[in-house]
Amino acid sequence: MSWWIGVGLAGLIGLVAWQTRLLTLGGALAATLVGASVFGAGGIEASIPMVAFFLSGSLLPRALGRPHSTEQRTASQVLANGLAPMLCCWGVALYPALQTTFWLGYAASLATATADTWATEFGTRFGNPAWIITTGKRVPPGESGAVSVAGTLGGAIGAHLIAGLCIPLTGSSVQAWTAAALGVGGMLLDSLLGATLQARFHCHECGRIGEKPLCCRTPATHVRGVRWMDNNMVNLLSTLATAGAILIIRG
Ligand SMILES: [Zn+2]
Repeated sequence: MSWWIGVGLAGLIGLVAWQTRLLTLGGALAATLVGASVFGAGGIEASIPMVAFFLSGSLLPRALGRPHSTEQRTASQVLANGLAPMLCCWGVALYPALQTTFWLGYAASLATATADTWATEFGTRFGNPAWIITTGKRVPPGESGAVSVAGTLGGAIGAHLIAGLCIPLTGSSVQAWTAAALGVGGMLLDSLLGATLQARFHCHECGRIGEKPLCCRTPATHVRGVRWMDNNMVNLLSTLATAGAILIIRG
């Protein structure tokens, strides 16, 4: 029953997000699937942290006075952050005996997604200087693989906020600390993957090395990293890794 209420509520939020151009149609459908799974498995208590993550990603740029992108989020972007928490919700529903473990995985993967989002926002706004996590090379703030003091602090605050909102699911504050710590670890893993495996492309028009295979409306040449490893894939891997880490720790 609660799954159908979830489909209705999540579909409504997805519809509004599509109509207000926060999400593409595919993004709205993906968000409906994620939202319905979260509500179906954990009702309002599980939905609050997910909605907090979603809203903070949209509102932080405005709150920090940063010019926010008008880019609509696609299904890939939604699933990059939402797939790991959604799978944990399926785990709760399918294996009720392990629900505390799966809720911890939910909290940790959502904390990672939030930490990464907040780190990008705080890092881009206040994160000068920023350094590549592997080499220490100075780079402009906001680049994949870069870390800064403001970005890391902002990300850690986001991870703790989400982990705190998950206490009704995970039970104790000790568990919440674990989820928050894994969220911070997942954020650092995200930077590490961004600096190493994430693809970079050289544009022959403007001469820049960027993260997109298309630049200046022309195909750019793949120069390093794994060709298909884009920012979404890096987010997906780091959120899956934190959820997986919980299963290993507790299993
Ligand atoms: Zn270019």
